[in-house]
Amino acid sequence: MIPVDPIWLLALPLLFGLGWVTARLDRRQAARSLDPEQGHLTESLAALADGDARTALKSLLEAIRERPDALPLQRAAGTLFRRLGEPDRAIEVHLSLLGRPGLAEDLRLSCLLELARDYLDAGIMDRAQDSLEMVSASPDHAEPALGLMVDLMQRQRRWADALSALDRLARINPASSAAGLRFHLLMELGREGDAKSLCPDHPRLNRPSAPSKTLEPQLCVQCGFQARQPSWQCPGCRRWDTIRPVT
Ligand SMILES: [Zn+2]
Repeated sequence: MIPVDPIWLLALPLLFGLGWVTARLDRRQAARSLDPEQGHLTESLAALADGDARTALKSLLEAIRERPDALPLQRAAGTLFRRLGEPDRAIEVHLSLLGRPGLAEDLRLSCLLELARDYLDAGIMDRAQDSLEMVSASPDHAEPALGLMVDLMQRQRRWADALSALDRLARINPASSAAGLRFHLLMELGREGDAKSLCPDHPRLNRPSAPSKTLEPQLCVQCGFQARQPSWQCPGCRRWDTIRPVT
């Protein structure tokens, strides 16, 4: 799979908005260059392409001021707030959007998913779970919601619930069965026999607990988290089998 910078996922609502604006302009046969809304969107996209989320958000908010009923742009603004480390403002934007009467169902669900991410970032786990339960009931949006649910349950060390969410995810997309993750969840639940059938050669089978004391500094090879002691799961990114001694 070709790696995609996540920032471009934010660009999609902007491109959608830009297309919507352009269509309206065509209908009105107006000069595109004279429309301030399109100008702000173009600036926002350019800033996103440069990785400048703060400028992108500023231009996006200008575009929203010009066209407050362009709801996908508001969703994108909420997401940018979160990426800029302001989950409280992201929650505010997404809740306000969800309160709009007559919101299209697809936009409502994608907004709920963004809200769940906001709550996760803000550490408000019960509300994140409520939002994810609502989204995961929709076949078209269940996959990302269940992926986040697995993450949420692991953050709370609710291993049985994490496994249950992973099972639901695997039913939707068998390619996401994640044998390594499933192995560790089963081990956490004391189901060593089931775990062994998945990964018969995993070192954890001979060493259920990672050594608790060592003088060697440890590092996550995925996220760079510096750990004081070995562990099967990285406390930073919650991936498994990524903590290694620094050599
Ligand atoms: Zn990590």
